[in-house]
Amino acid sequence: MCGVPFHSAHTYVERLIEKGYKVAICEQVENPAEAKGVVRREVVRVITPGTVMEENMLVDQENNFLVVLSGNGQDMALAAADLSTGECHVTQWSGSFDRWLDEVSSYQPREVVLDETLASQSALRQAITLRLKAVITPFTPDPAEESGILEALPRQFERFDEICDTPLLRRVATVLLGYLTATQKRSLGHLTRLRRYDARQYMVLDESARRNLELTVTLGEGKRKGSLLWLLDKTATAMGSRLIKKWLDKPLLELGEIQARQDVVQAFLDDWILFDEVTDLLKQVYDLERLAARISFGSANARDLVSLKRSLSVIPDLRRLLIEAGCPRLRKSGESLDECADIRELVERAIVDDPPVSVKEGGMIREGYSDRLDELRNIQKDGKSWITSLEKKEREETGIKSLKIGYNRVFGYYIEVTKSNLHLVPEGRYIRKQTLANAERYVTPELKEREERILHAAEKSVEMEYELFTNVRAKVAKEVLRLQELAGKVAELDVLRAFAQVARHYGYVRPVVTRGDRLYIKDGRHPVVEAVSPDGHFVANDVELDANSRRILLVTGPNMAGKSTFMRQVALIAVMAQIGSYVPAAEAEVGIIDRIFTRIGAADDLIGGRSTFMVEMTETCRALKEATPRSLILLDEVGRGTSTYDGMALAQAIVEHIHDRVGAKTLFSTHYHELTRLEGQLKDLVNVHARCVERDGKVVFLYRIVPGGADRSYGIHVAELAGLPQEVIDRARNLLADLEGADRESREDGPRTTPENGQLSLFDDFVSETAATVQPASAVPVLSQEEREALRALRDFDLMNKTPMDCMLLIHELKKKLN
Ligand code: ADP
Repeated sequence: MCGVPFHSAHTYVERLIEKGYKVAICEQVENPAEAKGVVRREVVRVITPGTVMEENMLVDQENNFLVVLSGNGQDMALAAADLSTGECHVTQWSGSFDRWLDEVSSYQPREVVLDETLASQSALRQAITLRLKAVITPFTPDPAEESGILEALPRQFERFDEICDTPLLRRVATVLLGYLTATQKRSLGHLTRLRRYDARQYMVLDESARRNLELTVTLGEGKRKGSLLWLLDKTATAMGSRLIKKWLDKPLLELGEIQARQDVVQAFLDDWILFDEVTDLLKQVYDLERLAARISFGSANARDLVSLKRSLSVIPDLRRLLIEAGCPRLRKSGESLDECADIRELVERAIVDDPPVSVKEGGMIREGYSDRLDELRNIQKDGKSWITSLEKKEREETGIKSLKIGYNRVFGYYIEVTKSNLHLVPEGRYIRKQTLANAERYVTPELKEREERILHAAEKSVEMEYELFTNVRAKVAKEVLRLQELAGKVAELDVLRAFAQVARHYGYVRPVVTRGDRLYIKDGRHPVVEAVSPDGHFVANDVELDANSRRILLVTGPNMAGKSTFMRQVALIAVMAQIGSYVPAAEAEVGIIDRIFTRIGAADDLIGGRSTFMVEMTETCRALKEATPRSLILLDEVGRGTSTYDGMALAQAIVEHIHDRVGAKTLFSTHYHELTRLEGQLKDLVNVHARCVERDGKVVFLYRIVPGGADRSYGIHVAELAGLPQEVIDRARNLLADLEGADRESREDGPRTTPENGQLSLFDDFVSETAATVQPASAVPVLSQEEREALRALRDFDLMNKTPMDCMLLIHELKKKLN
C-alpha cells in the first residue's frame, strides 16, 4: 500500500508490473469540496501483467495477451485476450499436456489465469512459471456472480452463443469476463469480437521448433535481431508488425489462403509505383488498433483522437490505389475498406490540431464546435482586453507610466505601483492588497468583479471542454468495431507489402505450394545467415524430399560444415511459404507441412531442470510420437549428449523408427559418418554430405550439400582450425590412431567382447567397415612425439653441406631421443 503523486504513478506501476505484481489503483470517488469527513476512496482498477493498457508498458510491435485456461479433466479450453488491441481468441481441444503448453506459449503471455480445476495442478503451474515465465493467477468467479456473468456474455461478445457452443468454451469465457470485470471495473466496449479457431487449422510449431528455428527471437541472446521475424518485419505500421509475428506463430495449412496472400505479394512486386505509394500512405497510419482500444477504454486523450483522424485521412487514397491497382484481390480489399469518414469529420470538427496531453486543462476543442464554449471563451478574451484598457486608463489618470496590472493564483488580478511612484497614487483610489520590497499591489471593486467573471468563465470552459471531449470520445468508442476491422485490413496489407519488399531486396521467388507430398528447393538459402553475412555470400543448396524413396536425408559432414544451417533453411523456407511469403531460392515446391519438429543444437534447459541429453531425448520423443507423414522432422546430431556407442545406437534406432513407422520427411544430421551405411538398408533414406576438402593438411568448408555420405570425420582438423594448441592436436591424432589400431586388433582377435552393457554388438559389422575406411584416409602414423621430432630432424638435415662428424653427431642425437 502506498500513496504516490498521480502524475508519477505510471513509473511505479510499470516497475511493479515488470516484477510480476498486480497493482490496485485507489482513487477518491467524491468531490473533496463536498465530502463530509474523510473522502470516500475506492479501488477503481487493478492493473495486472496481462491487462496492461498503458502505452509506456507496452511494446508497439508486440501483443500483450492474457491467457485463461479451463479444463474438464479431458479437454482444455483457452481464451487469449489482448486488452490493448481488443483481440480475443478462443479454442478448445484435447491432446497431450505438451501440446497445450505449446498453444499457450504461442501467445507468450505475461499472465495466465487458471480456472479452479487447473489451479491445483502443480505440473502445469511449474511449466507455466519456468518454461513460459508467466505469472499465474488462480481465479474462479464468485458463484454468486456467475449467473450475472453468464447473462452478460452474449452482450459483451458478438455471436457469443454461436461461437462458444460447448460447456467448456462457455466456462473459459466466463472466467475471462469474470476476471476482467473484477480487475478493470469498467465496460470493455472494444473487447467484443470473439474469434474461435481450431489449432489444427495451422501448422504446429511447438516451443522448441520456434526456438530452434529462431522464428521470433535468436537462440543465444533471445533478441529479435537475427531472427526470421526481424528479417521479414519491414512493416510500416505497429499493427503490421504484430500481425507478422502472429502469422509466424501460426503458418497456414489451407492452400487457397496461402495463394491469396501470395497473389497480393506478387501484385506489389509487379507494380513498384503502387508499392511505393502504398508504403508512403501506410507510414502515416498510427496504431489504429491500440488507439481504438484506448478510446473505447476511456483512456485516450485528445492527441490520440488527432492521431486517429490523421490515420483515417489516408484511407480514401489507400482505397483508391487498391481499387485501381489492377489486381482482383487488391481491388476487393480496397473496396472493403471502410473510410470511417464520419469519425474523421467528427474529430476534425471537434478537436484542434495540436491539443495538449492533459484532458483536464482545456485547449482541446476547436472554435465553432460549441456555441456555449465559444461564449465562455469570449468572456475571457473580452475580460483580458478590458484589463489592458484599464491598465492604460489608470496610467493616464495617475500619470504613473510604470503602473501595471498583473495576475497571480493567490491574489488574482492586481494593480502594481513601484515604491518610487507611490506618492502619485490619489488617496482612496485603490484598496491596498499586498506590500512587496519595492512595490505595492492594489485592487479595486471593479477589477475584482471583472476578475470573478473571467475566472468563472475560464473554469467553466475547462470543465466544458472536458465534457465535450469525453462526449466525442464516447461517440467514437461506439464505432470501435469498424475501427478494429479497418485496422485488421490495414495490418494485413502492410504485412504483404513487407513480404514484397523483402522478396525484392533479397531476390526471393514465389514458391509453388501444393497439397502434394514433395518438398523441392533449388538453390535454397538460409534467409538470415545470408542477410547477415558481411559480403552477402552464401552457398545455395538444393533439397528434394518426397514420399517415395527420398523421405529421409542423412546429412553427414564435419562440424562447422554447414549441416545445421542447411537443415534450418529447409524448415524456414517451408514456414515462409506457408505464411504466404516468397522464399530464398531459385525455385521451390512445398507440399503443405502440418508440423515441424526440431532437435537442433545442445542447449541445457537448466532453469527447466533438464540436462542437455534429457532435453534432446524429450524433443526427439515428441517427434517420434506425434509426427505424421505430412510433418517435417529435423534431427541434428541426436545422440551426441552421451557416449559414442550409446549415441550411435540411439541415432540408428531413431532413424529406423522414423523410416518404418512415422513416415515423416526427415533431415537427420550426424557426425557418425558410420551411419551412412543405412542408405543400403532403408529404402527411403538417402545420404548427402556437406562437402569439405583438405588443402595443405587443413580442412576447407565448401558448404555444398552433395549426394553421398562423408568419408570420415574431420573433428581434429576443425579443432586445429579453432586454434587448439598444436600439442593437443598431435596428442589427439595419436590417440585416434591408437584407438583405431586397438579396434582393428580386437577384431582380428576374434569375436568382440562387448563392454559392460553389451551395446556394441549393434555396430559390430560396421565398426569394421569404419576402420577400413578410416585407416587409409586418416594416414596418421602411430608415432610418439619423440619419434616425430626425430624424423623431422632427419628430414631437415642438409646432408650435402655437412661433414661426416656432423652426421655422427646427428645420429647420436637421434638415438638419444629414441631411447
Ligand atoms: P554444422 O551444423 O555442420 O556444425 P553450421 O550449419 O552450424 O555447421 O555452420 C557453421 C557456419 O558456417 C555457420 O555459422 C555459417 O556462418 C557458415 N555457413 C553454413 N552454411 C553456409 C552456406 N551455405 N554458405 C555460407 N556459409 C555457411
